[in-house]
Amino acid sequence: MARRADFSLTASPGSLLAVAANASGARILDEDGRSYIDACGGAMVMSLGHCHPRLVEVVQRQVAQLSFTYRFSFRNGPMLELAEELRSISPLDDTWCFFNSSGSESVESAIQLALRYWQLRGAPAKTDLISRWPSFHGSTLGALSLSGSKWRGFYEPLLGKYPVAPVPNADIRRRRAPAEETAWAIAELEDEIARRGAQNVAAVVIEPITGASGAAIAPPPGYIAELRRVCDRHDLLLVFDETITAFGRTGEWFAACHWPEATPDIITFAKGVTSGIVPFSGVLVSGPVAELFEQSPEGFPYGHTFSGYPLGCAVAAEAIRVIRDEGLVAESRRKGARLRAGLEQLAAASPQIGDVRGLGLLQGIELVQDRETLAPVPGAASRLVAACRERGLMIYACATPLGATTIEAVMLAPPLTIADAELDEVVAILGDALAATA
Ligand code: PMP
Repeated sequence: MARRADFSLTASPGSLLAVAANASGARILDEDGRSYIDACGGAMVMSLGHCHPRLVEVVQRQVAQLSFTYRFSFRNGPMLELAEELRSISPLDDTWCFFNSSGSESVESAIQLALRYWQLRGAPAKTDLISRWPSFHGSTLGALSLSGSKWRGFYEPLLGKYPVAPVPNADIRRRRAPAEETAWAIAELEDEIARRGAQNVAAVVIEPITGASGAAIAPPPGYIAELRRVCDRHDLLLVFDETITAFGRTGEWFAACHWPEATPDIITFAKGVTSGIVPFSGVLVSGPVAELFEQSPEGFPYGHTFSGYPLGCAVAAEAIRVIRDEGLVAESRRKGARLRAGLEQLAAASPQIGDVRGLGLLQGIELVQDRETLAPVPGAASRLVAACRERGLMIYACATPLGATTIEAVMLAPPLTIADAELDEVVAILGDALAATA
């Protein structure tokens, strides 16, 4: 088919991507009739696959009934329903909610909630935020300021302080035992709190399992519990950015559910909540934090035009019901184990794989020169992604600056609804692409 004229700005000038034509479940068809298995949901978005019939149906119904109202003028039924659904699955005590349309917007909400919380508590000096490297929290200026990522690059002059706390397990070349890694990462965090003075710090913001920067790095045992203790000891809010990890992705409703003894104060979510049907995101706020806002005359003075719009809320509420009705949280655990076993098998056969990691259906592999040095190979992640694409498989590249080097990894986040046979196909194509790029 003749190439169409294309005047949209891209991050890859000169390399025209295929034109996607339609999609269903875990498959995308381009306009030349090529089929791709979508094993990363674009950017970890497609929790229920493409065009899930129940989500399509709810959009059609809601859009014809009430698609938009403004939150300063009206409440709306889908928003109230969604808050109820979220309360039933949230790991927080007495959950309150606020809604937006993107992951970045909800991280901005979390930042503003944290700052305002300390003002309401009579500690207005607590304004600093501590985040980690590597991480990605979004592309708006506040969220990018928190991000330990190459994407800061050109915009550094506009950004706030650098993320400083390390992500334990991010550097596989250190080869530390898990307990040692936890102790080191916590000691580094404590040092940073001491440098800034706890009286100046509002919150610690982390991705409980990293996503776009680092590729599915899960914390070592004890780290999250210890982090919670540090935050309690110094009077800091703990914020989990679960833009990628919520709604069953890691085998629990929220990643926070993996550590019930150490829940955060605020959780952000986005992406999978509507499986790509409409833009949507939100923030869960624990009762003790929300209470202060409820008692203040201004409430939570922040938001966007589309905060809590009925169409988005209706789709998100239905997505939660689909995940519940189809038992997809447990399926994420089961299919995650199947995928993990396939990746481990590939790793056993290919010295290019230095690490397999992740939880549930969020899995990453780190690409290295060899097992002895575990040295990164520049460009390996994008070469593997290209080789997979040529073979009809979409995966996500994560090239992440870490100290003096850049780690090369790829991530898989297939729909929770993917068939077992399709998962096996993902592993087979990935194996073929690894062999071709060795
Ligand atoms: N937080 C995390 C953890 C993310 O992975 C992303 C997007 N990759 C964002 C925030 C930003 O989300 P959005 O692109 O929807 O603004």
